[in-house]
Amino acid sequence: MKLTAYGKTDVGLLRSNNEDAFFLDEQLGLFIVADGMGGHAAGEIASKMAIDLLREKLKSEVKKESTAKELLPALSDAINYANRSIAQAAAENPAWSGMGTTLTVLLIHAQQALIGHVGDSRLYRWSNEKLVQLSDDHTLINEQICRGIISNQEAEQSNLRNILLQAVGIGEELDICQKKIPIEQGDRFLLCSDGLTNMLADEKISDILSNHSLPEMACEELIAQALSAGGKDNVTAVLITVKNEK
Ligand code: CA
Repeated sequence: MKLTAYGKTDVGLLRSNNEDAFFLDEQLGLFIVADGMGGHAAGEIASKMAIDLLREKLKSEVKKESTAKELLPALSDAINYANRSIAQAAAENPAWSGMGTTLTVLLIHAQQALIGHVGDSRLYRWSNEKLVQLSDDHTLINEQICRGIISNQEAEQSNLRNILLQAVGIGEELDICQKKIPIEQGDRFLLCSDGLTNMLADEKISDILSNHSLPEMACEELIAQALSAGGKDNVTAVLITVKNEK
């Protein structure tokens, strides 16, 4: 199986700095999006730290003979390690106090997609012309929808949309969303920050993927459309296509 990927981040039209970060390694099968938060540019530190720590940890763990059974706990260990390390860095540097980051990780290994996720960045799978969100949003608003307290429609209008229930680096124990799904040739995956999904509805994202089969073209178009819809936040997208090895 061959993976082709492309990623892009943009500061957006209203913000002065970009607290999003992403990483992609087609050989390793590792793809990450992180959306940092915290004052004095600490959000940038948190998202970059999370990605560096994860990349380092997983690079040594992922071997050809590794099984999903080994890698899934390795993935959550790496996320917990990033959580503790960022919390410690924040404790040692008052300017970084309260910094944290979302973290959405896709590890493709031996025909499986292994997922580790905390926060409100998202992972979607595009399969048979259909877009399905694989990650849960760890937001107050999503919890209220799940409990039937508010409707999807009310949620769209709510000003509580960006309240996170958990983030990497805050130090509290994480409830990591983990999944393992078999992949098929032709599958495509999209990792993105909320700067994309707050600007573009799922239907719009689906249309763009349908119209652009190459990761680079689709990714560029997603970012361009998020900007033309207002670009209120930093926006990041990473697209991966799974193909047969030839
Ligand atoms: Ca954001």
